[in-house]
Amino acid sequence: MQLADRVFRLGTETAFEVLARARKLEAEGKKIIHLQIGEPDFTTPKNICDAAIKAIQNGYTHYTPAAGIMEVRKVIADYVSRTREINVSPENVVITPGGKPIMFYTMLALIGKGDEVIYPNPGFPIYESMINFAGGTAVPLPLREENNFDIDVNEFEKLVTNRTKLVIINSPGNPTGRTISKKDIEKIAEMLKNKDTYILSDEIYSRILYDNAECFSISKIDGFKDRTIILDGFSKTYAMTGWRAGYGIFNTDLVPIISKLMVNSNSCTNAITQMACIEALTGPQTEVDKMVAEFKKRREVLVKGLNSIPGFSCLTPNGAFYAFPNISKTGYKSKALADKLLLEAGVATLAGTSFGKFGEGYLRVSYANSIENINLAIEKIKDNLK
Ligand code: PLP
Repeated sequence: MQLADRVFRLGTETAFEVLARARKLEAEGKKIIHLQIGEPDFTTPKNICDAAIKAIQNGYTHYTPAAGIMEVRKVIADYVSRTREINVSPENVVITPGGKPIMFYTMLALIGKGDEVIYPNPGFPIYESMINFAGGTAVPLPLREENNFDIDVNEFEKLVTNRTKLVIINSPGNPTGRTISKKDIEKIAEMLKNKDTYILSDEIYSRILYDNAECFSISKIDGFKDRTIILDGFSKTYAMTGWRAGYGIFNTDLVPIISKLMVNSNSCTNAITQMACIEALTGPQTEVDKMVAEFKKRREVLVKGLNSIPGFSCLTPNGAFYAFPNISKTGYKSKALADKLLLEAGVATLAGTSFGKFGEGYLRVSYANSIENINLAIEKIKDNLK
């Protein structure tokens, strides 16, 4: 088979591969503790499920406009305006099946040969994959443990050139679980002020914050709203990963292009899902608060547990539901250790290198699992490394 060159530039998201391997081991009778997961283990709140049932009964079972149902775009615009303290109108919103297509469409719309894209590394693997797929040049911005996995703004400044077309920022970040401070975002904005650069601000974990951490959106800085694409969605905040509901906030020049990409790929986002999103944003938020409070408890247990494993050391994250322990003192490389723990200890984690080359020496451990299972996993890892 003669495949097109472009497919060889696609990367992948290892979480799906590890899940498949873990499921295979389970089918063979092995017990696996899933700490590789990138999704809340809670069920979607009942009021949201009820809204979806009502949507079916009310006939929301057909195509919708490509950018989304206007009523839903309006609710999203109000939500983003309120939470980011900016003025977003429904015409700025494109609803997509999950947040991921916003990366895909943004890259297809803006990036071509010779365009440079600065992206966090370790970072969500689809950034690098899509930059390469679109034919751009991927410029990794290393996030280093000695810097608390924060952006080193001096290093960032050195990466910016006249060809920097797009900068991707992700706060709270996957896999590090760190937020970017308002001060650092302001410095980044200052460096980009006179450049012709767009920003893709991935704010999908914006509601999962601890210790008074803040998700400060660069779109709030004077002159940046129209240059920023905000990516957000329902997958993480409302435990709705399987519903496929996300959105992007774009300037009004980009919206018709992104809508055309939707027409060419998905036609529209599932109508039932869209209607349930109204309830998610306007209904009671108590389930979200409960989920975040539970994640906070698990975070304490997991970080303490990881730090008690010989050869591991782990900083305390302040957002999302991931810890990113340094495992270099175990003597293993990331991938070798992740494989060993999966096969020998029955604990599924992800190698730091699944998030880019600067993830070597780390594992990503998700705490989207019960405290009981987290404690059990820590014991199993300890036993295995004895
Ligand atoms: N952005 C980041 C940083 C993520 O970790 C994820 C999912 O893991 C997404 C975006 C995509 O989320 P969705 O499932 O809504 O496509």
